Amino acid sequence: MARYGMAIDTRKCVGCMDCVVACKTENGVPEGLNRDWIAYESAGKFPTIHMEIRSERCNHCDNPPCVACCPTGASHVDDLGHIVLVTHNACIGCKACLASCPYDARFVHPDGYADKCTFCAHRVGEGLDPACVMVCPTRCFTFGDLDDPQSAITRVLESRRGHALLTDAGTGPRIFYLD
Ligand code: SF4
Ligand code: SF4
Repeated sequence: MARYGMAIDTRKCVGCMDCVVACKTENGVPEGLNRDWIAYESAGKFPTIHMEIRSERCNHCDNPPCVACCPTGASHVDDLGHIVLVTHNACIGCKACLASCPYDARFVHPDGYADKCTFCAHRVGEGLDPACVMVCPTRCFTFGDLDDPQSAITRVLESRRGHALLTDAGTGPRIFYLD
């Protein structure tokens, strides 16, 4: 089984939000809610300021607390590629998963279930990239199997320095930001 992840090049991201629009369109995300978003982080002082622009979403963690705490099994790791998903009709909307996620990646859909990024599993299952990956005009994203030594994502992570978010939380995030 694959173990899908994403590498995102922070040197290429210009914060255009095409990934955000593509996700909302592809997945019918309701008005006012987002499965992905843009974060800005600055460091240093003028004139040596560094600004990182990041496309963020669920990290599809290797050790997902949102799955461990779910009382119904609605939150689960899928068989396609360790993608963390929610079975909508098994979700009781208790919000335990929202509280457990250190990345604030989840929200409650107006229909009452917990929702978040799915890595566009419906597309990935057909051999396609997630919508955000496909539309990015600067080609920030590399998506693929982290356990495949020949995959593009494995090669880019071997050749470039990168970081993941909130690694101290012990969740094992699978989204990497290339420095
Ligand atoms: S980022 Fe949050 S919602 Fe996504 S797998 Fe990790 S803990 Fe769960
Ligand atoms: S809100 Fe739904 S998916 Fe989240 S923990 Fe509760 S039952 Fe599970």
